[in-house]
Amino acid sequence: MAESTASIDDLVGWLRRSAELLQQEASHLTELDAAIGDADHGANMSRGFTAVTEALDAESFDTVDALMKKVGMTMVSKVGGASGPLYGTFFLRFGTSQPGATELDATALAAAVEAGIGGIAQRGKSERGEKTMLDAWYPALEALQAADGLAAGVHAAAEAAAEGRDATEPMTATKGRASYLGERSVGHIDPGSASTALIWQAADETLGGAA
Ligand code: ADP
Ligand code: MG
Repeated sequence: MAESTASIDDLVGWLRRSAELLQQEASHLTELDAAIGDADHGANMSRGFTAVTEALDAESFDTVDALMKKVGMTMVSKVGGASGPLYGTFFLRFGTSQPGATELDATALAAAVEAGIGGIAQRGKSERGEKTMLDAWYPALEALQAADGLAAGVHAAAEAAAEGRDATEPMTATKGRASYLGERSVGHIDPGSASTALIWQAADETLGGAA
């Protein structure tokens, strides 16, 4: 689809495609985490999004906030690592920022993503430049805000997230498990920025019409 708004069904399609990509790339995400963390990011994301898919199979949702509350609560409860509460908070805030909405246009999607990112930063006590998932989220948000319309915005955001992911390689980690390595974290891509880029790739393929 390449319409000007994303319906609940479109958002569900985005989440399901995210789950597929995260499962496909689980071993790659785990390799990234093996280098600067504890080698569980692929398993964490797979487990969380498998549970999200099961929740989507079991229930249907009338509003964006009901859908994203379920997704966020599922991530928080199923993923033990740092990423579960952080992604969980993203989806919870995404939803609560759009009370009663049944579809999102580009402006509303950007506002929801901005609220979600604010939740990550608050919960993680983190900001951009610390070699975390935020280094993929913020460039994606800026690209979405700058673009004209939903499909173009999501496409630009996916490209910006991938660039943000790659830009974590020379950074020194100052938050999360990778920060224990200090300078030795340099030269590796942050695993959370890679999972965020996959979630944006899924958005491009479903909401952006890139498939
Ligand atoms: P854990 O670090 O508990 O093993 P994961 O491996 O699933 O959890 O996730 C690690 C990812 O979480 C990191 O690559 C990073 O992107 C992200 N992360 C960790 N701590 C923070 C934080 N304080 N703020 C933002 N993102 C963080
Ligand atoms: Mg880990």
